[in-house]
Amino acid sequence: MPEITEGVYFIPGQDDFIPDAHVYVIGDAGSQDLSIIDAGLMGKGGYKVQSIQKMGIRLEDIKRIIMTHTHLDHIGCLSEIRERIPHAELWVHVVEADPLEKGDDRTVYGMEMFRSMCQSQYGLGPDAFTFTVDRKLQGGETLDIGAMTWAVLHVPGHSAGSVALYHAENKVLIPGDVVYADYAIGRFDLHGADGATLKNSLMRLGELDVSILLPGHNRVVKDVPEGYILSTARQWAPYLG
Ligand SMILES: [Zn+2]
Ligand SMILES: [Zn+2]
Repeated sequence: MPEITEGVYFIPGQDDFIPDAHVYVIGDAGSQDLSIIDAGLMGKGGYKVQSIQKMGIRLEDIKRIIMTHTHLDHIGCLSEIRERIPHAELWVHVVEADPLEKGDDRTVYGMEMFRSMCQSQYGLGPDAFTFTVDRKLQGGETLDIGAMTWAVLHVPGHSAGSVALYHAENKVLIPGDVVYADYAIGRFDLHGADGATLKNSLMRLGELDVSILLPGHNRVVKDVPEGYILSTARQWAPYLG
């Protein structure tokens, strides 16, 4: 099975004219307790599920889908994936879970102009992104899943309910769209975003010991230089208020 590192499988996003989020599958293959991190853009669910199967992972072993956050490029094909894996629970940070359950999709679309454009482009109805969330994450949890231990960090700023997953033992960080490779960071102009808050979240991530950086888009980094995230945070700090 093509593991990017022990207990982490990588399915690269297939960008359209909108980016498609990467999917990571985490957990020890033998545990029969695997988790999908994020879903992706509308229409990419089939590709993501096929990729999981091609890696030799059985869909019945996927126990949950954990969202780093609920932007359209991450949650767009959640329904498509759940059709194929209906038993999988949905775990989302409480700040974005509550609106999702109420059908408040302002975070999903990020801005009004984008909502109308996407609804007509993809034929999405007004209730396309109403979901029941099985577990509302708070940040600060330790998840013992798939024979691994992952810490959940609430890292708002790119979106209000962004979470990062951190495996301390192997120094693996899955930060969603908060920080990317090549000293890039997530945008902070969408609904629920805030530059100063993002700065604090980046500084917190900068304190972690990270060797493997697995962001929501673009390059994954398997040999993160020491202080990489901290210098990314410092570089951006003057622009973040
Ligand atoms: Zn995002
Ligand atoms: Zn994204």
